[in-house]
Amino acid sequence: MSDEQKGIEKNEPENVSRRQVLKGIAITAGVVAAGAVAGVNPIGAAHAAGKCPGTTPKAALQYQPHPKGKDQCSVCANFIAPHCCKVVAGSVAPDGYCMAFAPKPA
Ligand code: SF4
Repeated sequence: MSDEQKGIEKNEPENVSRRQVLKGIAITAGVVAAGAVAGVNPIGAAHAAGKCPGTTPKAALQYQPHPKGKDQCSVCANFIAPHCCKVVAGSVAPDGYCMAFAPKPA
């Protein structure tokens, strides 16, 4: 394990349960689904208004402002350029990373 990896582990919260992570993802999916039923695009509308649509706290998904290997926001299906995420609340860096990373389809 490299020093960088050790440093990352020191900064990770220890009290985040798998249940909390899944709850955050489920809430976000529910918001998106509700918007689809209502005939609006909540992600596009929020982003256009200057607000990112993600609602899960960064700490809950162990967000970090640097990549994990080759995995990073800019190649994640949840990323909305230039700085938003469909899952994580607030701004994210294109080279950031979190536990909800999902690679964009090829
Ligand atoms: S890696 Fe995490 S923070 Fe980055 S875009 Fe994907 S889900 Fe959002």
